Amino acid sequence: MVQKNLIDGEWIAGSEAFRNINPSDTNDVVGEYARASAEDARAAIAAAKAAFPAWSRSGILERHAILRKTADEILARKDELGKLLSREEGKTLAEGIGETVRAGQIFDFFAGECLRLAGEVLPSARPNIGVEITREPVGVVGIITPWNFPIAIPAWKIAPALCYGNTVVFKPAELVPGSSWAIVDILNRAGLPKGVLNLVMGKGSVVGQAMLDSPDIHAITFTGSTGTGKRVALASVEHNRKYQLEMGGKNPFVVLDDADLAVAVEAAVNSAFFSTGQRCTASSRLIVTEGIHDRFVAAMGERMKGLVVDDALKAGTQIGPVVDESQLNQDTDYIAIGRQEGAKLAFGGELLKRDTPGFYLQPALFTEATNAMRISREEIFGPVASVIRVKDYDEALTVANDTPFGLSSGIATTSLKYATHFKRNAEAGMVMVNLPTAGVDFHVPFGGRKSSSHGSREQGRYAAEFYTTVKTAYTLA
Ligand code: ADP
Repeated sequence: MVQKNLIDGEWIAGSEAFRNINPSDTNDVVGEYARASAEDARAAIAAAKAAFPAWSRSGILERHAILRKTADEILARKDELGKLLSREEGKTLAEGIGETVRAGQIFDFFAGECLRLAGEVLPSARPNIGVEITREPVGVVGIITPWNFPIAIPAWKIAPALCYGNTVVFKPAELVPGSSWAIVDILNRAGLPKGVLNLVMGKGSVVGQAMLDSPDIHAITFTGSTGTGKRVALASVEHNRKYQLEMGGKNPFVVLDDADLAVAVEAAVNSAFFSTGQRCTASSRLIVTEGIHDRFVAAMGERMKGLVVDDALKAGTQIGPVVDESQLNQDTDYIAIGRQEGAKLAFGGELLKRDTPGFYLQPALFTEATNAMRISREEIFGPVASVIRVKDYDEALTVANDTPFGLSSGIATTSLKYATHFKRNAEAGMVMVNLPTAGVDFHVPFGGRKSSSHGSREQGRYAAEFYTTVKTAYTLA
């Protein structure tokens, strides 16, 4: 059965369908999904526009009830939805279920935010005049998401958009339509009026582009590649619309001589290789001071030997497959580039055969890398990391910040002085001390600086900044 697009409250099949393939077993078809056309995207935008006046004035209890019901259903079905996610994306079952729980928590958080909408009342500088400052919804929000967090990223964009009274046109990544379809189905059954949330699954160049080109989308929130992010930005400037971008990262993880070696290795392995290195917050630059360098590299090698790379759904798997063939080719191309550039491939990097045909890659660690190499400057987005040797903390900080990106940054140290200095001076939106560079909670701001992000933060109370517009109103008393 083909899962359909949701446009103006109707499930629409369209004329074409595409397949969702399991990267752990390419013979396993997860499902078939209707491919939306540019025409469908325009119909979805028109429906969202028509639904906006009523939804933007809907009661907070109605919005609260829908988001709360959605949270409850996602959490009740976490095992089933987590399995679907792991099957379509390839992260391990534990990671898939964990991400699903996070999506449920996000809907629960924004259900609560509906009940806490507030403004400010100030006296004017002129006597007998009052000023009210309120937040109003922005209008029709376009949501474009990537494949690496198939349920959490849609959740952290859809939940605040609806909470603050916006209507939505949502385009998920083509590689992972299953989780997106499931949350749209849940929200629809939870009682959303028609047209408030529209799902258009399809190609970025067709459906996404139709969204970028529409004057009726008032804000676009995008997570994906830097190249597409630029297109979103340029089109948004053209239409004078609000936009928010989350793009690449080349996140550093610094290990100082005084680090607890076990803590450093655990955090580095998690940062570099968990979720198959396919997180925007993954670390691919391990910047290590001289005194601990050799012990750190040896301990990483030992730890990496024990990593179980296999079918995402198999019990005991720690690293699932790469998401698809083109990403696998990108990873192996970068491994070849690293070697040509003169870095030493110390561990891993081979393609692996498992019981089923899938995109299995042994996590790879380069040593003797420099920060000038392409493997240190460009986002690989796979289980490939390099160790860059530095003299001391000062050099480590300089190298950590010497990148066009600025999403997340980590350090392993037992020194309060260095930890404090690093938190203040790391040029990143998120900083982790003795913790992996990835793993930001559902209720705190997520986002970066420099070429990683544009616009205000996602998640938590900070999300209100993007999904609302502020009004200042005066009354003569
Ligand atoms: P990734 O490398 O993570 O797939 P992309 O930027 O290609 O990054 O994709 C992220 C999202 O952007 C996907 O949903 C994709 O379909 C969409 N997209 C790709 N090209 C365009 C485009 N020209 N306009 C709008 N969206 C696009």
